[in-house]
Amino acid sequence: MNAQDCLNMLREIKDVAFATVDAKGKPQVRMIDVMLVEEEKLYFCTARGKAFYKELVQSGNVAVTGMNQRYQMIRLSGPARRVEDQKEKIDRIFEANPSMIDVYPGESRYILEAFRIENGELEFFDLGQPHVYRKTFLFGEHKNTVKGYYITDKCTGCGVCRDICPQQSILGNTPYEIVQEHCLHCGLCYESCPAEAVAGREL
Ligand code: SF4
Ligand code: SF4
Repeated sequence: MNAQDCLNMLREIKDVAFATVDAKGKPQVRMIDVMLVEEEKLYFCTARGKAFYKELVQSGNVAVTGMNQRYQMIRLSGPARRVEDQKEKIDRIFEANPSMIDVYPGESRYILEAFRIENGELEFFDLGQPHVYRKTFLFGEHKNTVKGYYITDKCTGCGVCRDICPQQSILGNTPYEIVQEHCLHCGLCYESCPAEAVAGREL
């Protein structure tokens, strides 16, 4: 599983939730088709008259999530940019998604504008297996810190966190260690550690 695999999964799910923030600071979410995934870039489109278009242009950021029938979830967040050659990309999108021809016949397709997400943070979260599995990827030029909890050198080795972790994701090594791939990010270890040795990143 890598960043390209995550983007491909979003394309397979196709109808996924896109969240933005409007001009009043209110969160907005709607279902949008993932139209293309090429060379670690995700493409989608929307019409210039839609509130979604205005929110994309104003804030430039979007968060995307989708889940398949195997309870495997992908989350993506990053900047969405208008592509340079709109006509060429809209035609390419219609070629790859022929059902769009019925929705926007003839020249009406050019009321749509194509956007690209080419950097950001991606997360794969598999809830379909007995032991949850999580992996986070940065792609493109995005350099944000990856989310999660970790154990600092304040740890006294008391074992409280290991015993309460609902996914048995804490190893009693020296020092204690969180197995990031199986962590729920629930925060129980953070709240329960008597030495305040558990810290969070970007939480
Ligand atoms: S509860 Fe805190 S001090 Fe105890 S083992 Fe876990 S991290 Fe270390
Ligand atoms: S955040 Fe939750 S799942 Fe992750 S290590 Fe701590 S207790 Fe376990």
